[in-house]
Amino acid sequence: MPALSSRIARTELAATFAMAARARALKAAGKDIISLSLGEPDFPTPPHVIEAAYEAAKRGETKYPPLSGTAALKEAVREKYRRDQKLNFAPENILITNGGKQAIFNIVMAVTTEGAGDEVIIPAPAWAGYEQTVNFAGATPIFAPCHAAENFVLQPEALEAAITPRTKLLILNYPNNPTGAAITAPALEALAAVMRRHPDIWVLSDDIYEKLLFDGRHYVTLAAVAPDLADRTITLTGVSKTYAMTGWRIGFLAGPQNIMQAAALVQATATSGVSTIGQAAALAALTGPQDFLAARAAAYQARRDIVLAALEAIPNLRCHRPEGAFYVFPDISACLGLATPAGRTLRTDTDFAAALLEEAHVAVVQGSAFAAPNFVRLSTATSEFTLREACDRIRRFCGSLR
Ligand code: PLP
Repeated sequence: MPALSSRIARTELAATFAMAARARALKAAGKDIISLSLGEPDFPTPPHVIEAAYEAAKRGETKYPPLSGTAALKEAVREKYRRDQKLNFAPENILITNGGKQAIFNIVMAVTTEGAGDEVIIPAPAWAGYEQTVNFAGATPIFAPCHAAENFVLQPEALEAAITPRTKLLILNYPNNPTGAAITAPALEALAAVMRRHPDIWVLSDDIYEKLLFDGRHYVTLAAVAPDLADRTITLTGVSKTYAMTGWRIGFLAGPQNIMQAAALVQATATSGVSTIGQAAALAALTGPQDFLAARAAAYQARRDIVLAALEAIPNLRCHRPEGAFYVFPDISACLGLATPAGRTLRTDTDFAAALLEEAHVAVVQGSAFAAPNFVRLSTATSEFTLREACDRIRRFCGSLR
């Protein structure tokens, strides 16, 4: 059989997909599985957004789109940054992508050179997609450790320690997947101070969870906090998480013109412009009513509170308090070394997640998928009723370990 590329050999499908697939298989076999493994809002896409897509299709917006996005959507993205962050981007500073994922792919491919030893700094715990993309590109992921004691926020010393002459890109992600950590303006300023000493490094700020912040917190982003770094700061947002539009595949990149052109070239090579129907939908999302977003953030906050209260009552779990996004990330290290009623010894977080699925029928994702062994990630993007039942199962599972 003809061989596949080394790029394929070094790229693994994220464990989030693997766990979801196993959960689906058990469900198909008739088991009552609660899945907390996928990072996807359970709310529906707002009806006015769906209507706008339908109207666009009927109007004939069904031809090849401009590579960098429709003029109307780019204008709406510019307005969003003006409104939310007082950031002024020109149309040439905006690129519409096929979801946040393609935005990250475009940037990593645009700034790293395969086989050249280029490094990308990923503060860990981190969403698995970054490591996968960096490996695919033939660069090296360098994980900068972030700790619960520091709210899982990247510290300037850890950033400085991770930088080498080969560093090409730093990826920031707040609110964070998987920890739910948010960042403050002073903490961003401290990171900006480090970056000023290293003028050859790009920064990608993945703000895909920008609107999902709790306890009265406000979204801040590097581009607004450190305007002097504008010539190398790239900001990523999108509609997937904010407007419950994961299936529409629309993301937004904002940054200097040269990197936007390079990112557009990557996109031109892979997919060309983004679905016209999806762009019409995203336009309606950005320009339509925004008041429901606060209600959704409040719903996620209430779910966080339910899950935290339940998990904090379990003696062998330790839980950090998420400040945004829709994940809870308990430390399960006190469970390791113990055995389940079915006789499985839990040596790793992966053993824990697998046993929890097989024996307690709750699907979560092992922390090692996020470069954070000894943790598991629970998604709270499901009903309060389901979350209570899931936490009850987790409590019984943890209590049964010997
Ligand atoms: N960035 C982070 C941190 C994510 O968690 C995700 C999705 O899980 C993405 C980017 C990808 O977003 P999209 O669904 O728009 O591709």
